[in-house]
This record gives sequence, C-alpha cells and structure tokens, in this order.
Amino acid sequence: MEKRFVYADNAATTRVSENALKAMLPFLQESFGNPSSLYSVGRKAAAALLDARKKVAEALGADTKEIYFTSCGSEADNWAVRSAAFEGAKKGKRHIITSAFEHHAVLRTCAFLEGQGFEVTYISPDSRGLIDLADVKRAVREDTCLVSVMYANNEIGTIQPAAEIAAVCKEKNILFHTDAVQAVGHIDINVKKQGIDMLSLSGHKLHAPKGIGALYVRSGVELSPLIFGGPQERGRRAGTENVASAVALGAAITDAVTGIAQRSAAVMQMRERLIDGLLSAVEGVRLNGDRYIRLDGNVNLSFDGIEGESLLLMLDMEGICASSGSACESASLDASHVLKSIGLDDRAAKGSLRLTINEENTQEDIDYILERLPAIVARLRALR
Ligand SMILES: *Cc1c(COP(=O)(O)O)cnc(C)c1O
Repeated sequence: MEKRFVYADNAATTRVSENALKAMLPFLQESFGNPSSLYSVGRKAAAALLDARKKVAEALGADTKEIYFTSCGSEADNWAVRSAAFEGAKKGKRHIITSAFEHHAVLRTCAFLEGQGFEVTYISPDSRGLIDLADVKRAVREDTCLVSVMYANNEIGTIQPAAEIAAVCKEKNILFHTDAVQAVGHIDINVKKQGIDMLSLSGHKLHAPKGIGALYVRSGVELSPLIFGGPQERGRRAGTENVASAVALGAAITDAVTGIAQRSAAVMQMRERLIDGLLSAVEGVRLNGDRYIRLDGNVNLSFDGIEGESLLLMLDMEGICASSGSACESASLDASHVLKSIGLDDRAAKGSLRLTINEENTQEDIDYILERLPAIVARLRALR
C-alpha cells in the first residue's frame, strides 16, 4: 500500500469537527462581547453560553444549572475531588476511595490531599482492568466522603460499573464522582438514571477544541469555589467565560451523544479486525484490558522484547500516530501506572502500544496498520 497518514490516537485528542468549528467562530469576532455586559453583543454571548450549557446538560441527562464550564478535564477532576474532600472534612469525613488506575488528574489530587491529612484507599483493578464492586463495598468506612472511579480507562479502554458503584455510594450517603472524559460520546450516560453525583468531561476528546471542559454537579451537592473573583459559574469559578469554546463543546457533545449507536458498530468492527489481525500476525503479543468490556475504538497491546518508544518512532515514519501508555506518559520513562495496576511488569508495560480509532478512520487505515505494524515489530526484534 502507498504511504498514508493514519491518526490512531483519538484517546489523546481528536480533530475539531466542522459543526463545532462553525458554531464557535462567530463568538471570536462578530459576537465577541463579554457575557456579563448588558449591551447586545454581550447579551448574544450570554445567550450562546446558556444554550451551550443546556446542550451539555441534555447530553448527560442533567439540569442546565448543574453544569460548570472548566478549562479542561483535568480541572474538572481536580475541582470535584478537592471540593468533595473539603466539604467532607467539614463533617469530619476525611477518607476517599479511588482506583489505582485513574488519570493523574485524580491521582495527583488525591496525593495532594493525603499531604493535607486525608486518607485515600486505592482499589486495584483485576487483571482484565475492571474494578470489582465488592472491593468498593469493602473499602467504605464511616468517614468516607467520596468515591471517585473513572467511567472508562484512557489507556486500556475498559468500562467500569459506574451505575453500580453509584448505587453503593447512595446507600451509604457518600458522594460518587466519575471521570467520564473517555466515556462521554461513546457510552450512553444519564447521570440521573445512573445516580452519578459529579462527572468530569473534556471537549478535546470529543471533537471540540482543547481548553474547554465541564463538571456536572448534582443540585444539592455542595461545591466549593475554585477561582475567587466575579460571579461567573454561579460564583464558584470566576473569570470571563471561554464563550467560543463552550459553544463548540455544546455543538460537539450533541453530535457525540446522538450518534453513539450509529458509530459504535462500525468502529467496533474495525477494532476487532485490528485486534484479530495483530494477534494472528505477530508472535509474543498480548491484548491489555478485557476483550469486550472496552471502548469501541480502543486497542492496547504489549509486544515482548520491544520498547514502546522505538515502536512509536517507526510508526511515525510510516505516517501512523499512536501512543504508548498515555500521551503524558510518553514523555517520561516510567512504565504506565495503568498497565502495572493490571499486573504487567515494567518490561511488558514499556512494550505497550495504544491505538485508538474512531468513526473518522477507514477500513484502508486498518489494512495499512495491519500491513506495516508486524513488519516494524519484526525489524525492531531483529535489532536486539
Ligand atoms: C484526557 C483525559 C483527562 C484530562 O483531560 P484534559 O482536558 O486533557 O485535561 C482526564 N481523564 C481522562 C480519563 C482523560 O482521558
């Protein structure tokens, strides 16, 4: 096959969609007003912001006033976990439950809180990358103020029993937060039906631009302020709103959640072809994460005797964008904490490759990866 450009790193970030771009552009130049201003360009911006908030709420089955815009998914995670801890401490509850394979936005917030006198229980996933509900139940204490478990893992794509965990929390009167950055637009989510108290999402993982995210907080749940200043975001996150990006998020999330059923089968079929093809063409390779309880577009493999970084560089020379662990992980030499949490040793974790495809990929992309990747693996192994 001719050399192609194949973007297979959609868990790292996605392309901005035409709809999102078209929706946001007027708010950069024509209607650039400050949503807090009283004249008409300001009011136009305020109306667009409200409409965007409504769209994000509808996508989650939430009320408009339960949505807070943030600058990214990491900010939403930080805010949710810190607020729950802060509010919990007021009632003498200083214990948090999370999982060992959360995104660092949650894990490093928890580490910070440990330094402030909180206690954190880290539940390990099983070897398939799934959190056992019984482990959550066992970890609950009288002084637990928060359970934070991600909806779907960003490296291995495994989907966690969020609604079941939420039910356990509700029974025990504990807040449940979920980092749903990888799940929104891929899995049907309804925060009311699923009993979710707080949920984080990020625009750039669902075809909106980088620099916008949102936190859902059920009404009735105390949310401590994040940024002091003006009255924006109901006085809890001051700062003039990123109107254009919020509008783009509204457009993108609507497309993302309404098209799930339509995209799912085709993306899953490509994923299965990729997994089957690579498992049969290459020796000494294993699939990380449960084979089926995973995101439609996630493939995560470990190759014996190979360094993930060398693999990425050679794939890049062939025009294929992929990742080893998560993007933030690739810059460091530490083995992925996610892969270690499901029992991989350092070497297997470092020999991992994540390919994350979506509806923009084609069968030709899959053919191309299946043609080039086995040859690259063979070449790298011959160099040892
Ligand atoms: C990407 C990601 C984040 C961080 O989102 P940003 O908008 O990049 O800060 C958090 N959690 C998960 C699961 C992610 O995949």
